[in-house]
Amino acid sequence: MTEVVILGAGYAGLRTLGALQKSKEDIHVTLVDRNEYHYEAADLHEVAAGTQERERILFNISDVVDPDKTTFIQGTVVNIDREQKTVKVTNQPELRYDYLVVALGFVSESFGIPGVDENALSMVDVDQAVGIREHLEKQMNEYTRTQDEEYLKIIVCGMGFTGFELVGALVEARPQLAKLAGVSADKIKIASVEASTRLLPMFPEKLADYGSKHLADWGVEMLTGKRILEIKPDTVVYQNGDDENDRGEVTAKTIIWTTGVRGSKVMTDAGFSEKRGRVMVNKDLTDPDYDNVFIVGDVAAAMDEDSGRPYPTTAQISLVMGHLAAENIIHKVNNEATKEFTFKSLGTVASIGNTHAFGLVGKTAVKGYAASVAKKGIMDKSLLETGGMKEVLSKGRFDFYH
Ligand code: NAD
Repeated sequence: MTEVVILGAGYAGLRTLGALQKSKEDIHVTLVDRNEYHYEAADLHEVAAGTQERERILFNISDVVDPDKTTFIQGTVVNIDREQKTVKVTNQPELRYDYLVVALGFVSESFGIPGVDENALSMVDVDQAVGIREHLEKQMNEYTRTQDEEYLKIIVCGMGFTGFELVGALVEARPQLAKLAGVSADKIKIASVEASTRLLPMFPEKLADYGSKHLADWGVEMLTGKRILEIKPDTVVYQNGDDENDRGEVTAKTIIWTTGVRGSKVMTDAGFSEKRGRVMVNKDLTDPDYDNVFIVGDVAAAMDEDSGRPYPTTAQISLVMGHLAAENIIHKVNNEATKEFTFKSLGTVASIGNTHAFGLVGKTAVKGYAASVAKKGIMDKSLLETGGMKEVLSKGRFDFYH
């Protein structure tokens, strides 16, 4: 029997699992994840803002594990020895594999900027997202005690896709937060600090401007062209434009760090040929150093021949990669040629809260309520591919019908 070990039950890992479990080959899978649940990482901002409950964006991994074909191990991967074909997981005997699928996902990146770890909240897993929500609620209560308006201020650092969607969700959460503080919603002040002057470069400028304008109209203070130099307690220190001596500060009791991510540190520790935790994979998604190791999701960089740059890290791409890794393992088991990774985007849509969004579906720009329906369709498709129909029926986004 062929032994396949999958590391990580995110979008990519679960997609590989689903496809391998459906195959008729004589394959046993061991799936490893540090949590007993899978979470939809693209929805973390909603939990952080408090516009969605934690349970809505996750489901138990055991729901999608077929016990006849797969063993699930809850534990943390500490090392991978590709020479010996073994994986070390905390409190477990060494795991041996014929084929390995590394799908360990991303961690927050501070770029070595001082004070980030100590003074800003990051949002890369469920516990951190819940932590942000609880922190916000605590600040609102502190306001009732002190009447200090600093407690009503929120700063989001970095306006990439994640920062943008988080700000949108925070705008939507404003009335709930204001209620806790006993103030009107306009008293909750949301600001963002971003190094670039051109937001969301994956969208045409007009479309990105549409999103920014909405946030500005809703009272978000968007500071652009301001590179963050340091996070001090309750203070973001930035540089104005290119002038090193021109510095400014903004203050708030809540500072959230969404200035970027890198691939899992395991990639570095285990000696993969990586850059910021991402490995430039072969066209069939194998590791350039070991052809029985597949690398998928946010720890993989696959070259996009059209743009000459690696594909970005997105849930959609992770799902396609996960499926191809399973197909290619089956090809290898049968001594057949492997297939190359290709990707055709269904579209990229950024939400601004629950009922507004904008983005591209194919090459067509979509905006407003219709875009938010498209976004929910994309979210449901992703949930279908990781969790199946059962999870879609209980956790899918159907609220666009009313
Ligand atoms: P990102 O790297 O895309 O964005 C980080 C932002 O922070 C950038 O705009 C950057 O200019 C800014 N920044 C970096 N250093 C800074 C500094 N010192 N001071 C001020 N600003 C600074 O990171 P992300 O938003 O976490 O996204 C990570 C990846 O995940 C991206 O590829 C993104 O497209 C993808 N993603 C996709 C979706 C989706 O498709 N629905 C959702 C979220 C994230």
